[in-house]
Amino acid sequence: MNFEIFVLGTGGMMPLPGRFLTSAMVRREGDLFLFDCGEGTQISLKMLALKWKKISAIFITHMHADHVTGLPGMLMLSSQVERDEPLHIYGPPRLKEYIDQTRRILDMYINYEIVVHTVSEGRVLETPEYTIEAFKLDHTKPCFGYTLREKMRPGIFFPEKALALGVPQGPLWAKLQSGTPVEGEGGKLIHPHEVMGESRSGRGFSFVTDTLYSPKIAHHVKGVDLLLCEGMFEDALLESALEKKHMTATQAAQIALDGEVEKMGLIHYSPRYNDWELKRLLKEAQEIFPKSFLARDGMVFNIPLKD
Ligand SMILES: [Zn+2]
Ligand SMILES: [Zn+2]
Repeated sequence: MNFEIFVLGTGGMMPLPGRFLTSAMVRREGDLFLFDCGEGTQISLKMLALKWKKISAIFITHMHADHVTGLPGMLMLSSQVERDEPLHIYGPPRLKEYIDQTRRILDMYINYEIVVHTVSEGRVLETPEYTIEAFKLDHTKPCFGYTLREKMRPGIFFPEKALALGVPQGPLWAKLQSGTPVEGEGGKLIHPHEVMGESRSGRGFSFVTDTLYSPKIAHHVKGVDLLLCEGMFEDALLESALEKKHMTATQAAQIALDGEVEKMGLIHYSPRYNDWELKRLLKEAQEIFPKSFLARDGMVFNIPLKD
């Protein structure tokens, strides 16, 4: 089962050549989840040559232009394919107003239903296989981070154990694998744990951008395979970061360390840094969390199941 993360953009404030505004897409099975949509996101999506017009859901962190001005174009382009299912868009207050007003003023042609969900802290989406959680960040406007987490999967099934306990191959095996006890030889009740290994963990991805540092963030990104985290400034500009309610690369690394994530990619770079200068941010981050890297536009991460 695939779980891929595409880095669509890594810039903060304004798009630059080679650096679109911060955005990411997750492809899991047939679903596409888009995180933030600044100016130019539809172009970076096109560059990846994904079949992206059928986005399953969009998650918006906050109502600043560099995170939402790409939405109208994205919604219009999504009308170029037939879709029966509605498009769900999750985000802070005023997102619905922004979408409704833009649609009205621009007379946008949209051939599908758009459902806007105003999020508050907690689970915003849940299926039998995964959850998406929103958590509050501390920015100059209401802002949320998101974590997509697969649920635990059942352990490995051992057919020889089932046979030894007198459960023949067939529908009873499926029952055991779905967690239901069945009758074995002589009517004895056989429990799933007798024929299956330990539950297996799923995969996770977190998207955190535009916030002051808070130790609480680490809790929400706990153990994910990939954290994309704002690291807008180097340490020398900490004052500036505090004033604008942003983070330094060092602070992002602290979240990654405390959250025990697998790896952390910095995003939402200040446009003051050219690509070469970003190495300074990386160096600072790696001193705290060695598995930090500079996320770059167009990067793709394929997260395999661990077992
Ligand atoms: Zn921003
Ligand atoms: Zn912002």
